Amino acid sequence: MSETLTLAVTKGRVLKDSLDILAKVGIEPTEDMSSSRKLVFETTRPGFRLMVLRGMDVPTYVEQGVADLGMSGRDVLLEHGGDGYYEPLDLRIGQCQIMVAGLKDEGPLPKRLRIATKFVNTTKRFYAEKGVQVDIIKLYGAMELAPLTGLAHRIVDIVETGNTLKANGLVPIERVEIISTYLIVNKIALKTKHQYITPLIEGLAGVTG
Ligand code: AMP
Repeated sequence: MSETLTLAVTKGRVLKDSLDILAKVGIEPTEDMSSSRKLVFETTRPGFRLMVLRGMDVPTYVEQGVADLGMSGRDVLLEHGGDGYYEPLDLRIGQCQIMVAGLKDEGPLPKRLRIATKFVNTTKRFYAEKGVQVDIIKLYGAMELAPLTGLAHRIVDIVETGNTLKANGLVPIERVEIISTYLIVNKIALKTKHQYITPLIEGLAGVTG
């Protein structure tokens, strides 16, 4: 039987680093992904396909076995909370943090804070573990606007350099999680295709960080 493996990668800012790691183990898309609107790509390794997905969809495709493997941010995995896959390898790319942030000059705050975030589950868990009651407001983008407009007192969001916070008059307050991109593997695929997947994990482990 020849190898057929599908790896789901996340479109956006971490895609280039993901492709760079794959190139180091000899897997490259056969056409330029950045100038194509296709979602599935063949690679220089016969039978090895790449799928380009939105971040939150990567664990779903891997969990369901449509993709055998995925490269997914730990922020996404924490929020998704699935159990149909293993996380065998920290790829050490896409490194950032999930932070609580607020206005530089917050002034007096009420006892029960409103927190705006797209990481609702992670934020709930974080405050529950501290035994602090908060109200969570789900947002899909432009988190920084929430404290500026009074929609929320604080935000829980991804911070890499801190430039976005700073540009909006916000400061980091507390770290929630340290984030990087992980290789994830469908549990059943690891059993049925282990002769292909295990060497791939070993190869990737040899070229990360
Ligand atoms: P920065 O200004 O460098 O702190 O970047 C913060 C913004 O970039 C946030 O609004 C995030 O949404 C986004 N961002 C930074 N790093 C990542 C990452 N590794 N994965 C996803 N989004 C990120």
